[in-house]
Amino acid sequence: MRGIESSRQARPVDRACRPVHAVWELTLACDLRCRHCGSRAGRARPDELSLHEALDLVDQLADLGVQEVTLIGGEVYLYRGWQRVAEAIAARGLSCALVSGGRGLTPRVARQALEAGVQSVSVSIDGTEATHDALRGVDGSYRAARAALANCREAGLAIALNTQVNRRNLGELDALCDLLLAEGCHGWQLMMTVPADRRYL
Ligand code: SF4
Repeated sequence: MRGIESSRQARPVDRACRPVHAVWELTLACDLRCRHCGSRAGRARPDELSLHEALDLVDQLADLGVQEVTLIGGEVYLYRGWQRVAEAIAARGLSCALVSGGRGLTPRVARQALEAGVQSVSVSIDGTEATHDALRGVDGSYRAARAALANCREAGLAIALNTQVNRRNLGELDALCDLLLAEGCHGWQLMMTVPADRRYL
């Protein structure tokens, strides 16, 4: 949408069939190294939207009729100005959610998310500690994700889980369901792992 006044150029059919939910990969910068990552995340793209452009895109999404924006990455909190983007989304009356691997989702980041108007944070957890750390490519990522859930809940955010499903964690889903209930999550997104990149499972 860079440089395109999409909301003002919309055809009648576009106006009649408006997008309701946008999932926005705000940055490719990431602090995990998941084996399955189809985005090859790690470093930010050299031509990612500036904050000014991102704020303009929020206005375009709102003008198009979008009602909910889910910010993903990469890792959202590694984009400089992510709170401003979330604030702008909330200021336009759209609901805002985040998806996070949770490695750096500290109590401070959780409070910032709440203050910016984020309503829900979904943290990726893929199984037991050993399975999760192996799939996510970083030792300690499971403990960080569990801490992220607690940090968000204690900040006052609604929390959810998202889990990729593959042959390695298929037998761990019941335990994950127990975890979800114990943590007070309001939702659980299950996705089949697509071995798109890095290494095949
Ligand atoms: S957390 Fe998401 S964006 Fe980051 S490496 Fe893993 S799959 Fe890719």
